[in-house]
Amino acid sequence: MENFNPSPFLVGWHQAMLYGAFAMFAAGILLYVFHLLKISSIKSYKEKYDYISRREIKNLEITFILFALGVAMLINRYGMDKIDEMGVWFFVRLFISFAGGTLVGYIAFLILEYYYPGRVDKKLKKWRYMPRVNPKTGNKMRLLAEHEEDVHLDEGMKAEEDVFSIDYDVWIDEQTNDVLVEKYQGHLQALQCGNCGFYTLKVVREEITQQPTINSVGELIKHYECSYCKSVRATAFKISTMEADDFKKEKHVYKKNQDVVLVKVEIKSATGGSKFYEFGDLVQAQKFLTEVEEDKK
Ligand SMILES: [Zn+2]
Repeated sequence: MENFNPSPFLVGWHQAMLYGAFAMFAAGILLYVFHLLKISSIKSYKEKYDYISRREIKNLEITFILFALGVAMLINRYGMDKIDEMGVWFFVRLFISFAGGTLVGYIAFLILEYYYPGRVDKKLKKWRYMPRVNPKTGNKMRLLAEHEEDVHLDEGMKAEEDVFSIDYDVWIDEQTNDVLVEKYQGHLQALQCGNCGFYTLKVVREEITQQPTINSVGELIKHYECSYCKSVRATAFKISTMEADDFKKEKHVYKKNQDVVLVKVEIKSATGGSKFYEFGDLVQAQKFLTEVEEDKK
């Protein structure tokens, strides 16, 4: 190289960009590994569900932002062995690196916003319907079929408040009648949009059209909107004021062959392994199977 003598600033800058990029990629990978370890370290299926529902997409977002920063830093090393003096080119390259980083970030955003929620939904269903084990006896529990009310009001929820209704899953140990009640925030889950097919349909508003009382169920309308195609849907649900503790008291005493409909599904994989899932009713099982089918396509 004849007379190639870049300024100390450029040397330092290019070095910083290299180490910075390494640091960004490493941090992104570490975060993702941490995320996977965290999920596998959680014992309870319900807590796995909650963690995935709360963190999966957010953690991947941060991972991709770190990768995008890494890419932007690498772009800042482009042509470093040809030009040794500061000039306008330095700022042009800086600008291009911002554009490149933004592009990577934007592609990641599209994936996480539209494609990935379908996968999250499958993971969530897996943990939500995985048969629970009674910690006292070690028995497998069964998920009760839909109770008479679809959704429930959260503590202190009032019509004018912007609080969402909740779903309760009731698991029962047939031998001891022990009951396990799990609480799910229905509005956090993205559903599949009937119009565009993406898992981008979310509850945007709920309205109580008939107040429930201690003795009678009320009615609540959930308004859904798809964040992709903007199509809307409204569905009525029966609601009650019953809360988690009430299930334990008396509501669901197990009666053999009456209260419980158990649907057992075995899924065999091509590699020879098989997995069992149990469902409280046929609707849940069919919904799950449809998704497994779609997964194979
Ligand atoms: Zn849609």
